[in-house]
This record gives sequence, C-alpha cells and structure tokens, in this order.
Amino acid sequence: MRKKLVAGNWKMYGSLNENKQLLDGIITGLNGLCNTHTAVCVPYPYLSSVQNALQDTQIAWGAQNVSQYEKGAYTGEVSVSMLNDFKCDYVIVGHSERRAIFGEDNNIVAEKYVKIQEAGMIPILCVGETLEQRESGITEQIIKEQLAAVIKRAGIISLSKAIIAYEPVWAIGTGKTASPEQAQDVHAFIRKGIADQDMGVAKELTILYGGSVKPNNASELFKMPDIDGGLIGGASLVASDFVAICRAMNI
Ligand code: PEP
Repeated sequence: MRKKLVAGNWKMYGSLNENKQLLDGIITGLNGLCNTHTAVCVPYPYLSSVQNALQDTQIAWGAQNVSQYEKGAYTGEVSVSMLNDFKCDYVIVGHSERRAIFGEDNNIVAEKYVKIQEAGMIPILCVGETLEQRESGITEQIIKEQLAAVIKRAGIISLSKAIIAYEPVWAIGTGKTASPEQAQDVHAFIRKGIADQDMGVAKELTILYGGSVKPNNASELFKMPDIDGGLIGGASLVASDFVAICRAMNI
C-alpha cells in the first residue's frame, strides 16, 4: 500500500514561542493516529528546537529548501549535510514560491533533488501550473516538463525514494482549492506518465495535493484514488486545523 503523508509547510512563519504552542497542540491532537505519516517542514533556525520537540513522537520534520552545492563560499545557503545534522527526513524542493520568487528553474530543482537523495533524505518535489498556464490548456505539458527535468537528471527509479506534491500555483495561499476532480485528473496524469516508464515505481509513489487544503475540503480531496495526502501551508500553522486534516487522511 502507498504511504500516506500529510506534511506542513510553515513557510517563513513562526517564533520559538509560537512553534512550541503549535507543536504541543499537534502532538496532543494526533495522539493515537497511526495510519498516516505526518511531518512539518520548518524554517532553518528552528530545526534544532523542532527536532528536540518531535524526536520521541511519530511526527517527522524537515526543511523547505536546501542548496544545490555541497559546501563552500555560498553566503546564506544551507547544505544537505547541515540538514542531516538535524536528522531531517524531508526537504521540500521546487516549491512554486522558490521557482517564482527566487528564480529556481527545473535544472536547479533537479540538482537539489539529487543532493537531497544522496544525503539520504526524501525530497518532496513540488510541481504545478500557474493560472495562466491552466487557462492556456498547457497544465499537462508544464507538469511533464517539471518532472522530466528531474527524471533526466536522477532517473525514474529515484522516484521510489521521493514524494511528489502537485500544487497548482493558483491554489496556493489563495483560498481557491482545486476541485477533487481537477486534482485527481492531474494526479492520475502524473502517475500514468511515470507508469509508462516504470509501473512499479508509479504504483508505490506517494503523490500529495497542495493548495488551500483546509479541514472542510480535505476529506473530499483525500478520497480521490490518486491523492495520497497533502502538503499544507496556511492550515499547518493552526494546530486544530492541521490535526483535522491529518485525521481526514486517516479515514
Ligand atoms: C504550500 O505552501 O505548499 C501550500 C499549499 O500553501 P496553502 O496550503 O496555504 O495554499
């Protein structure tokens, strides 16, 4: 059976105090929930305190980005070995905010993906189209190109140690969720494209949906056959919302 995962993306929010309250609420709220894997991807400065808070729980943690370089004169960057020092399981790569605001193209994303896997962590590879691209009818082409760059660089088998997150850019942080059918269509397209190259990898691949997932829409999305969980932004900052979304996956 495919692994189910609900991962929070805290983005650039939080403080030591706020994080403590948030994690206390999540740990208490998730007590006893066992079918779903849960993770939080947090800002770098909080990795140490999050590791301390979560190390004896079933909740995993990770980062939201990493450098494509191993080490060196790259002021302001963070390497995979640094993330390993904090026992991160997951690293988000190719988030649309990194692509759009920080100019990360498909090749940079592929380099980062490789580094994350070489270091033994699991990339959560984000793909998704903008509103303009959807309206021009090129959603599938965009997703195909985003995936192809990674597959070309790392090989199809690499996806057996990765997670894909389909995140339509127009749904991220906008309150506009893709309908379960819209999301399912793209998830099925992704899985089929991978199945054409390796059936076994496609069957086992966890594909998350991300984009304004909230407690009131999570279960409809998670019921779809190719949606294996969620990457959650805004709602991952509210303990009761995040817990409710994890519970919706667990049904
Ligand atoms: C995200 O940041 O990956 C995301 C999906 O955000 P939100 O849930 O706020 O749309």
